[in-house]
Amino acid sequence: MARIRRALAALLLPLAAAAALTGCGKEGSPPVKGPQPEQLPHYQVNTSFELNDSPTWRRAVKRGHFTVGVKEDQPYLGEKDPATGLYSGFDIEIARMISASLGLDPAKIVFRTIASANRETALQNGQIDYYVGTYTINDNRKKLVGFAGPYYMAGQDLLVRAGETDIKGPEDLAGKRVCSATGSTPYQRIQQDYPQADLVAYDTYSICVDNLLTYQVDAVTTDDAILTGYAAKAPDELKVVGTPFSQEPYGIGVPRDDNALRFAIDDALEENEKNGNWKKAYDATLGLSGVPAPQPPPIDRYPAS
Ligand code: GLU
Repeated sequence: MARIRRALAALLLPLAAAAALTGCGKEGSPPVKGPQPEQLPHYQVNTSFELNDSPTWRRAVKRGHFTVGVKEDQPYLGEKDPATGLYSGFDIEIARMISASLGLDPAKIVFRTIASANRETALQNGQIDYYVGTYTINDNRKKLVGFAGPYYMAGQDLLVRAGETDIKGPEDLAGKRVCSATGSTPYQRIQQDYPQADLVAYDTYSICVDNLLTYQVDAVTTDDAILTGYAAKAPDELKVVGTPFSQEPYGIGVPRDDNALRFAIDDALEENEKNGNWKKAYDATLGLSGVPAPQPPPIDRYPAS
């Protein structure tokens, strides 16, 4: 734990310094945009909701809140304010709208930071009820957990230093130091499809970004939605290059056998897409990194197995 905290602190300092240099330091430049709580939707708690077929839901009701796994170092998606301990971002809003639709007060959610490599175990051992954190739905993972959604479509991309001219796409990675997160799909894709890259892995992407800013690595690779957030926080030092070279449909991870919970979350997503909450939440969070709200992808309500 202490090791992770030290590593995170090491990351956040250079990022904060870069943001301060590019934002507040210059006369006339706009302040760095942060989450805009006043723009966020209010999620009405569905007090008559019942889901007695779901053991996860029953446990949460008994406890009085959902426990949700998220990320804490991904700007505009899942970010924890080190001063207040409060979480914000698009994934956090998705977690909140689901809680309200499933009858539990979103203000009472207990968020737990879980790294990419630990998501399946956290769902399997009941540490969390559901997971919302840039979690790509795929067949391998479906053997271990269930996925509601998708609620957003991302794609793998590359983040480099602003002055970088050699790296324009994944074909240019041969012999370059490339950083990604352990247990992630972008890590696996580079390993399989671009074996000439000199690939390194850490628990989180923010440690990779720290290493990029200090010239320990030449590129960071993961989803465009994540990289755009880092670049938006330090636009003079970082840039996203190329065009996305994969499809990463973001799902909500649930315990594999709890199909009742999975289908109820699918319903909740659909309802919040229809009533405008999804778009409002996007505009107040991920939309701040500069990409206008897309159409949410169709929900994949795959049968129970
Ligand atoms: N969406 C990718 C994945 O689920 C990369 C982002 C992440 O590690 O959370 O592996």
